[in-house]
Amino acid sequence: MSRDIKLLHPELQKIIPRFLEDCKKNGLIVKITDTLRDEATQNDLYAQGREEEGNIVTWVKYPFSSHNWGIAFDFCRDDGKGAFNDSDNFFYKVGQIGKKYGLEWGGDWRPNSDKPHLEYLKYGDAKKLYNKYKTLDNFKKTWGKDKYMFVDRKFKTRDKIETFKVINEEGENYISIRDIANLLNLKVSYENNTKITILEMIENKIDLYLDTKEIKISSINSDGYNFVKLRELCEALGYNIYFENNKIKIKNNN
Ligand SMILES: [Zn+2]
Repeated sequence: MSRDIKLLHPELQKIIPRFLEDCKKNGLIVKITDTLRDEATQNDLYAQGREEEGNIVTWVKYPFSSHNWGIAFDFCRDDGKGAFNDSDNFFYKVGQIGKKYGLEWGGDWRPNSDKPHLEYLKYGDAKKLYNKYKTLDNFKKTWGKDKYMFVDRKFKTRDKIETFKVINEEGENYISIRDIANLLNLKVSYENNTKITILEMIENKIDLYLDTKEIKISSINSDGYNFVKLRELCEALGYNIYFENNKIKIKNNN
């Protein structure tokens, strides 16, 4: 069984982050437990509660589950109150939010309801998809290329608030390297030979005048402030700087 939403129809992939956020806003912490199922997985699951031990969890063999077509996912609760604890109608509430996003909720099925299940039926159910495409690979040829939905997120660093596009997946924010570099005042470069992305502090040499003597000193500019190397500054001023008992000590040379 896979929990990977990237295996699902791209349109469903776009819906899921918004759906999960909406659930979260309503105090419903949802975890996706099962997305795409291949033939062996589906038929093993069908055997469960029949030839094999366990409870019956599916009513169909491959390829007649929407899970076989990348248009369904199962979920449970992830708030530490028990994955399938439904004492507060958790699954009904999540199902209603799913419906807001155009999903069908398995809890509405009769007689065999399936509360931890949501599916996307824009292109038809498993039976229709099977009749039309025969295989998942054929159906996949109709899937669009764009796989992720970007959402705007505000980040605060010191006094600055900036908005970046992020991909939100399973509660994690993914931000581009270029944006994180910008946020942290780092310089980003790419080493073509080694294929390594390099992040380094933006360091300049600034000119400093001590009375009339000009010295060059390393600095990092951040938010309009120049941060200089303490060691270089001390040496320029004729002080010795050293580290002792976890303390920085500065002593006059003269
Ligand atoms: Zn399901």
